[in-house]
Amino acid sequence: MIQRTPTRIEAHLVEDRPSWQQLLSESITCPEELLARLNLSPERWLQGARAGHQLFPVRVPEPFLARMRKGDPNDPLLRQVLPVSHEALRVPGFVRDPLEEDGAIQTTGLIRKYRSRALLMVTGQCAVNCRYCFRRHFPYEDQRLSPRDRQHIVETLAASPEINEVILSGGDPLAVNDRLLAQWANELGAISHLKRLRLHTRLPVVIPERVCESLLAWLKKTRLQVVMVLHINHPHEIDSATRAALEQLRDAGVTLLNQSVILRGVNDSTEVLEALSETLFDAGVLPYYLHAFDPVEGAHHYDVSDDEARGLVRDLLSRLPGFLVPKLVREVPGRDGKTPLNLFS
Ligand SMILES: *Cc1c(COP(=O)(O)O)cnc(C)c1O
Ligand code: SF4
Repeated sequence: MIQRTPTRIEAHLVEDRPSWQQLLSESITCPEELLARLNLSPERWLQGARAGHQLFPVRVPEPFLARMRKGDPNDPLLRQVLPVSHEALRVPGFVRDPLEEDGAIQTTGLIRKYRSRALLMVTGQCAVNCRYCFRRHFPYEDQRLSPRDRQHIVETLAASPEINEVILSGGDPLAVNDRLLAQWANELGAISHLKRLRLHTRLPVVIPERVCESLLAWLKKTRLQVVMVLHINHPHEIDSATRAALEQLRDAGVTLLNQSVILRGVNDSTEVLEALSETLFDAGVLPYYLHAFDPVEGAHHYDVSDDEARGLVRDLLSRLPGFLVPKLVREVPGRDGKTPLNLFS
């Protein structure tokens, strides 16, 4: 039999793709390297980047970096991850824990604010460090659930028939390996009053390779309905690899939704938000929430006022079908559920 040499394209297809674990561990965690890779001047940017990095470390995975425009300090993806000198400024009203989350912890790893759903923090690790994150001041990386914590959580959920949905959050729950996630899905699936499993994740966006066979296997197997809430702020975050990953998730029966945060210099225009909704829907994702900005210390340069955000969403209502307009919400400490911002008051 004649062995045909593969063409260049075929060779590329059969080549081993790096695993998501490898991509995660090889993320850029050094401000100098981030600037160098994007051809940005260290004279102009390095001092600020180092100052911000001291407060909240840089973390950018390669597949996300690859979607940024070189030489453009205003690239909307770069702006979400590049530390700048403004982060060191103290601005009145911008606090370390804007959501006062500390109060709602029921048992280690389990946060209970709402009657029908419970949030489970399965890891503190994220695949990307977003500068505006309201969790930037917590040493979440230290938190790992012990087998005993896990058992306690499962017992608590089994004894709470009013809960029908469990939300895996973090950090990023998909930073956890599939062996452990499959175990969670198994144990939660065995609790008969649970109907849904929700995952709040940015991983399929920043490292599409995360949507691998072992993830798809447990997603397809669980009896629970799976909802994935992605976090995408700008249409450039969706490239062909992300689209392919999202399509595989949909084929596995996962309902895909998206939440964004309104961010100065990233998506604070009607045009960008409209393009974001259209691009999301093209990729099979429905816009769910647009979060009003939470005043977190070190992130005031991203602040968009509530009035400006309301105006942007009113414009979206006139340009898009209703199902492509995200709900503008804020999390108000102590309130049940997210609070919608009134658009016409
Ligand atoms: C936002 C949030 C939820 C989910 O709320 P939905 O409005 O159902 O998306 C659940 N638990 C906590 C702690 C939350 O902050
Ligand atoms: S991925 Fe989410 S939790 Fe992690 S830093 Fe970004 S916004 Fe925060």
